[in-house]
Amino acid sequence: MKAWEANIRRVTPYVPGEQPKSKDVIKLNTNENPYPPSPRVKEALLNVDELRKYPDPNVYDLRKALADYHKIDINRMFVGVGSDDVLANIFITFFNGDKPVLFPDITYSFYDVWASLYNIPFEQPKLDDNFRIVKEDYYKPNGGIVIANPNAPTAIAEPMSFIEDIVKNNQESVVVVDEAYVDFGGESALPLIDKYDNLLVVRTFSKSRSLAGMRIGYVMGHEDLIAALNDVKQSINSYTMTRASIDVGVASVLDDDYFREYVAKIVSTREAFSKEMRELGFTFADSSANFIFAKHNKAKAADIYNAAKDKGIFVRYFNKPRIDNYLRITIGTDEEMDKFLAFLKEFLTTSGC
Ligand code: PMP
Repeated sequence: MKAWEANIRRVTPYVPGEQPKSKDVIKLNTNENPYPPSPRVKEALLNVDELRKYPDPNVYDLRKALADYHKIDINRMFVGVGSDDVLANIFITFFNGDKPVLFPDITYSFYDVWASLYNIPFEQPKLDDNFRIVKEDYYKPNGGIVIANPNAPTAIAEPMSFIEDIVKNNQESVVVVDEAYVDFGGESALPLIDKYDNLLVVRTFSKSRSLAGMRIGYVMGHEDLIAALNDVKQSINSYTMTRASIDVGVASVLDDDYFREYVAKIVSTREAFSKEMRELGFTFADSSANFIFAKHNKAKAADIYNAAKDKGIFVRYFNKPRIDNYLRITIGTDEEMDKFLAFLKEFLTTSGC
């Protein structure tokens, strides 16, 4: 073995959902939005001449647009390359203690990857049998807390009062609430940033704003937390947000009517689809997100997943303890969900379920 081999940082990376090469598939596996972004986004992308210049390292225009949108001071807003980048920066900046960072055993499976990458100790209290977070599990010494709300992949949202209890009981820790899916039905913890200086609320443009491909995420919290985060980010790469992503982000934020209309569409498809799924023998908690997390009373999730894939329909299956008989199904268009339901009806009939 060469000496340098001992110096390699070895990691087991996060594995995102498949991005099949063929366009001729129904993609219900990565919680993308089935609708295009606001038409204003297209206009914003035409600003090609300006690309010869570096972008603004402080991302002022997009931070200002978002701060105005959420009615907070711009110094409480940090923007990054998708919420994955924002969360990774949060892990590096705030979780440098010896005590374990806490997040549920079933949650966004990138959290433990970042913790491992940065050598951060962590513990994963178990969700209860109904996949609910047990808040008392978080009332113990810790080096930080991360809660996805609505949680993924369960799609279950807890009310603001629940989050407030966790924040209130942990005022010596930074508590991060990942609200990637909140626009589809959850109650945001954002109002709590006025009350607690240890709270960070993370959002993304990837789901409700149809901009997964542009990579824009942000976090809001006390200005001292935001300043610390910004110092770390500026110590790694000044220019993470491209000119295109800043312009597109602003355009999206300014088109609120479009945003609301399409979020409402997805919610209405989700409700109709959920009803049909229950009639087919699936059980699942009511979803507050743009996906459902369901298991069938007879058919095995892995079999459904594989059979759907053979027909060009991609859903997400996690071969992990406690959830290996569940499917996470993203809400697409009405037409896509109808095709998936038609596939399921045929599959369940032919397999005798
Ligand atoms: N948080 C949660 C809970 C997610 O499901 C995702 C999507 N994979 C993300 C954060 C990251 O999304 P993005 O980096 O696209 O903003």
